[in-house]
Amino acid sequence: MKILVSGAGVAGLAGARDLATRGHDVTLVEYAPHLRLTGTPIDIRGDAIEITDRMGLLPQIREHRIRMSELMQFVDADGLPVAHIPMAQVSDSDDDIEIVREDLVRILADAIPDSVTIRFGDSVEALTDDGDGVDVGFRSGRTERYDLVVGADGQHSAVRRLVFGPERDHLRHLGVYIALADLPGEARPDRVSSMHNVPGRLAGIARFKDRALAVLMFRSEWLDHDHHDLDAQKKLLADAFAGHSSWRIRRLLDAALADPELFFDSASQIHMPSWHRGRVVLVGDAGHCAAFLSGRGTSLALTGAWFLAEELGRYGADHAAAFERYEARQRPYVTAAQQRVDEGRERLIPPTWDAIDTRNARLQAAS
Ligand SMILES: Cc1cc2nc3c(=O)[nH]c(=O)nc-3n(C[C@H](O)[C@H](O)[C@H](O)COP(=O)(O)OP(=O)(O)OC[C@H]3O[C@@H](n4cnc5c(N)ncnc54)[C@H](O)[C@@H]3O)c2cc1C
Repeated sequence: MKILVSGAGVAGLAGARDLATRGHDVTLVEYAPHLRLTGTPIDIRGDAIEITDRMGLLPQIREHRIRMSELMQFVDADGLPVAHIPMAQVSDSDDDIEIVREDLVRILADAIPDSVTIRFGDSVEALTDDGDGVDVGFRSGRTERYDLVVGADGQHSAVRRLVFGPERDHLRHLGVYIALADLPGEARPDRVSSMHNVPGRLAGIARFKDRALAVLMFRSEWLDHDHHDLDAQKKLLADAFAGHSSWRIRRLLDAALADPELFFDSASQIHMPSWHRGRVVLVGDAGHCAAFLSGRGTSLALTGAWFLAEELGRYGADHAAAFERYEARQRPYVTAAQQRVDEGRERLIPPTWDAIDTRNARLQAAS
């Protein structure tokens, strides 16, 4: 089949690879002008590990395995450690694989067969499904017809909006925002990551390999803005930390405001009764974002892309049956992941000084 995949994140890259290796004619379109490589280390857990093995990528993924979480500490205003997170509280098992998002994205991109057409700097603007195929209009002005369209374009999916309606119909905001920015010159040989809290705010440095990232999180109600407008996002971030004059926070904020690749997003979930309609189907965050607080978004993207490709292989042209089976296999993983966010939020961004002290005392007792 001729298949369009929208979005070249983990779900889109894995999906394009899994579909193309089964003989489909795949086009991958990404809004950004290049692969988006920002991000802290993420986890591959549970059955997603087995999926990467079936993809033939597990050895490479293991080669890039790191253990950043083991070296993460909370610090006080003077930078002195006040608590560590015991690994048992953040991992499912010792088998979990922590890998820098950039490394995983590169491994997946390298695994895409040459037959796949990849177009950066473009996106889907119109979709018309007439039952026999989907006519797609792109921002570039190009139009094309596909047998199937896979929306893998993340939490703020354009495919979802065009086919299933506005984001607000599916969104559950968890009351937190995150920003990640490059922090040149802050890498250290000990690779210790330090996080500092004030009520409802976290400012920290994530260190891994030879890199350092500024991590800024804040509690907030939903902030309506254009998710592709970096200047608007920087203003929201600056406003959220206005009034915090500590030099530790200021220098991280300055780095974030200077970074042309700043990653800024809400911790929000997407809940949908179904991830497919007609010849259009959603995978990854587009269909069921669990939010970074779950620690399971990447694993869900990998299992979903695999199940979808496998079921399309099994049912051939009966895409409706394949979509049903994909959804039935993926749904239990999503339900479990979406339920596991409260703990992460309370641990990372306690809302008050009392809550910060209680968190520190709990972690000290558990360490
Ligand atoms: C730059 C970046 C950094 C991240 N950092 C972290 C992190 O540090 N920790 C964490 O837990 N999670 C992070 N995430 C989210 C994490 O990657 C996902 O939750 C998870 O991997 C599921 O992946 P996904 O492919 O469904 O979504 P995503 O990884 O969000 O990928 C979606 C892709 O679709 C593209 N896209 C968006 N809109 C359109 C459009 N209209 N047309 C075409 N393409 C579009 C995006 O540019 C992106 O490349 C990050 C995501 C991104 C994009």
